[in-house]
Amino acid sequence: MPDDVNVRSPDDPAFHELCRALAKKADEVDATGKWPAAQLRLCAHYGVWNWFLPFEWQGDEWSDADLARGYMGLAGACLTTAFIITQRTAAVRRILASSNDALKAQLLPGLRSGERFATVGISQLTTSHQHADEPVLRASETSGGYKLHGFSPWVTGAAHADTIAIGAVFKDGRELLVALPTDLAGVSVEPPLRLLGVGASATGQVRLDNVVVPEELVLAGPIHGVLTGGAGSGTGGLQTSSLAVGLAGAAIDYLDQESAQRPNLVAVAAGLRVDQTQIESDLLNLAAGEPVCTQDDLRARANSLALRASQAALGAAKGAGYVWGHRAGRYCREALFFLVWSCPHPVMQANLCELAGLE
Ligand SMILES: Cc1cc2nc3c(=O)[nH]c(=O)nc-3n(C[C@H](O)[C@H](O)[C@H](O)COP(=O)(O)OP(=O)(O)OC[C@H]3O[C@@H](n4cnc5c(N)ncnc54)[C@H](O)[C@@H]3O)c2cc1C
Repeated sequence: MPDDVNVRSPDDPAFHELCRALAKKADEVDATGKWPAAQLRLCAHYGVWNWFLPFEWQGDEWSDADLARGYMGLAGACLTTAFIITQRTAAVRRILASSNDALKAQLLPGLRSGERFATVGISQLTTSHQHADEPVLRASETSGGYKLHGFSPWVTGAAHADTIAIGAVFKDGRELLVALPTDLAGVSVEPPLRLLGVGASATGQVRLDNVVVPEELVLAGPIHGVLTGGAGSGTGGLQTSSLAVGLAGAAIDYLDQESAQRPNLVAVAAGLRVDQTQIESDLLNLAAGEPVCTQDDLRARANSLALRASQAALGAAKGAGYVWGHRAGRYCREALFFLVWSCPHPVMQANLCELAGLE
């Protein structure tokens, strides 16, 4: 590969070059289900890892609005690659937010260069298995550190990760977040799950069998609500909406192309584009700190748009779109992902009510 190109902003022509390269391979990534190593290397080549790092870590410290635009572009090109980047970034944010300076110095340089890969296993603290009587990943104190036992139900790219930012719960309800090395004794990565979409993201369970984690690997806690207030929280939630809007944009682009020869599609594409423009504007305003709506409201609308736009693309593609390998069919499967990924209860409820035709 030629010398690295550092994409400076979403307006940089090099960014569009990167998106075009990712888009060319998106159907192949979907069809093979193979971890998109080449795509991630390409992202490293274009300096994507620097977007998320502050200047003090030699990053480019993109603004939240530019990050949202970056994510929309990447998701429109290849949702799987964009999604993997969000999970990697979530881990990087947790590491950056930690007060454990020695651990930061150990992990961040390799993550910046792309030599190391990190991901998150935190859904057991937020949206997964919350109805279970017992937390699925338990923490207890032991000499010099903590013992973790149980499993993390969803970890994207676990088999490719050196580090997992993973959360566990004590008997008294306090929580712990650690940077778990995947080669620590007792850690095992289950085979990836077969998914409806983003199947190449190598997502599956990670089991921890009485894993002893030394104090030096603690990112935050023990504390109640370890994920809220500081430790990597903030506007990161806008990532999911950015990806949904990016995917919707790709489906609307498809409708636009088809409508060049099919006048009946013109109004459909235009109607969806108006919706996309409004949601995108609200998203960028929220990212810039303008409280134009709540994050949950935005996410529910972004989910709805992704579902409607992808299904409109499929309708326009007709039977050909229903054949495996057509991008309209892929958009539909990928849009379903937003109903279940990192979806807070009010968002899920709003989407279900819309599907049921309720107010
Ligand atoms: C492809 C993919 C990749 C992901 N990657 C990551 C990642 O990298 N890191 C990460 O931390 N998270 C990740 N997640 C997790 C995600 O953000 C959510 O936490 C997850 O989708 C929640 O689904 P669940 O099936 O675990 O939910 P659960 O709430 O555990 O539901 C599972 C089942 O339990 C039953 N159930 C649910 N609620 C109740 C109830 N109230 N009472 C009785 N029964 C109930 C239902 O039968 C349901 O089907 C990923 C998810 C997906 C789909």
